Amino acid sequence: MLLLKWVSLSDIPAQGQRFSFQDDPKWLLLWERFALDCHVIKSLVTSLEVTPRQEGVYFRGTIMGEVSLSCSRCLEPGTVNISYDIDVYELYAEDAQKLPRERPLKEENGKWWFSPEQLAWEHFILALPDKPLCAETCLGLCPGCGGNRNFGQCACSQETLDPRLAMLRNLKINR
Ligand SMILES: [Zn+2]
Ligand SMILES: [Zn+2]
Repeated sequence: MLLLKWVSLSDIPAQGQRFSFQDDPKWLLLWERFALDCHVIKSLVTSLEVTPRQEGVYFRGTIMGEVSLSCSRCLEPGTVNISYDIDVYELYAEDAQKLPRERPLKEENGKWWFSPEQLAWEHFILALPDKPLCAETCLGLCPGCGGNRNFGQCACSQETLDPRLAMLRNLKINR
């Protein structure tokens, strides 16, 4: 994992504490590291309320912003609006070995620490669409020539529209 900021939970008052952060270069590093073709349109802002409890920590807040991701159909950049609610309770006692992920909580030097950035990263990934699109109506790429069909019809799509035309074309080639 990248160098994330860790905050000691013993510094958080029992009634909880609010955090808000915005760090474009950190997001860029994360996207690069995870080979995500993502760019900032509107800076991601994470607001977090951290409330320590006996057995764990409540994290509540939001991530808001706008990024661009490659469209899953035409590969052009598409805008993805990020507006995601964070609402998790992380137990101290959870067996870290069993979890397939990096935790936003860790114990070190007899103290518990949390990483707002790790938490934001986790929820950012959840906020992303499975198949980002530049537009719902995106026509994608032509399987024949690879041209972007949003920019107009290519020659091959016109031919395949009418099988009779394709036959005529073959006849011509055979001659
Ligand atoms: Zn597209
Ligand atoms: Zn084509």
